[in-house]
Amino acid sequence: MKVTVLTLFPEIISGYLDASIMAKVRDEGKINTEVVQIRDFAQDRHRSCDDAPYGGGAGMVLKPEPLALALDSVDASSKRVVYPTPSGRPFDQDYAGELGKADELVFICGRYEGIDQRIIDEYVTDEISIGDYVISSGEIAALVIIDGVYRLLEGVISRESLEEESFSRGLLEYPHYTRPAQFHGRDVPEVLLSGHHGEIQRWRLLKQVEKTVKIRPDLLEQVDITEEIRNILGELETARKGE
Ligand code: SAM
Repeated sequence: MKVTVLTLFPEIISGYLDASIMAKVRDEGKINTEVVQIRDFAQDRHRSCDDAPYGGGAGMVLKPEPLALALDSVDASSKRVVYPTPSGRPFDQDYAGELGKADELVFICGRYEGIDQRIIDEYVTDEISIGDYVISSGEIAALVIIDGVYRLLEGVISRESLEEESFSRGLLEYPHYTRPAQFHGRDVPEVLLSGHHGEIQRWRLLKQVEKTVKIRPDLLEQVDITEEIRNILGELETARKGE
């Protein structure tokens, strides 16, 4: 997969893409990245990329001409073009998987009040929100989406890790422990030291259901409720009534 990012702050994008597992994945050839400086396509002598909004109001808007030239330079009209925005479709694990099927993704990083609507109308295929809050830059939002997508690509993370982590089966993840067995007077749950695979699996599922019920009960509506999960939900309900 190729990921192209159009931004006024390439150093923010490169800083992340050039580090840790992302750099490793790129070096292994599983993902190819390109960062494009939007300002290189500005046309006036001040190389300005933003202007005041028509109709008045607070803030500035990213001008359409530099963005269109930057998008044309990467042949964006034939590609899936993502604009991260608070008013987009909510990003989640399924959406990450869907984006991962594309051969190439082009990201436009917004700033200020956002980008001129005509760029969205002409080029953008996906307006994506990373949550119901507003941050100041599209760079961070683009990196969240890129990270969520690339780690689902074949061969990046082991299947086992992906299958067990949060959202993979609609449930939140179980807690993790590592050595030492006792830390600040807190013990690792005994079952994890037992070596009994079946018991460990059952305990982990119990913790997943427990946490999902407590923190994100809305997720349970999409979970495939197996007999084991139904039994755990029954036990939790009985325990709740007995409190
Ligand atoms: N005026 C915009 C609004 O009210 O929807 C917010 C603009 S925000 C200050 C600047 C840029 O940050 C946006 O263009 C977008 O690219 C990015 N951004 C901010 N919050 C975001 C979110 N929740 N999801 C995705 N992108 C976001």
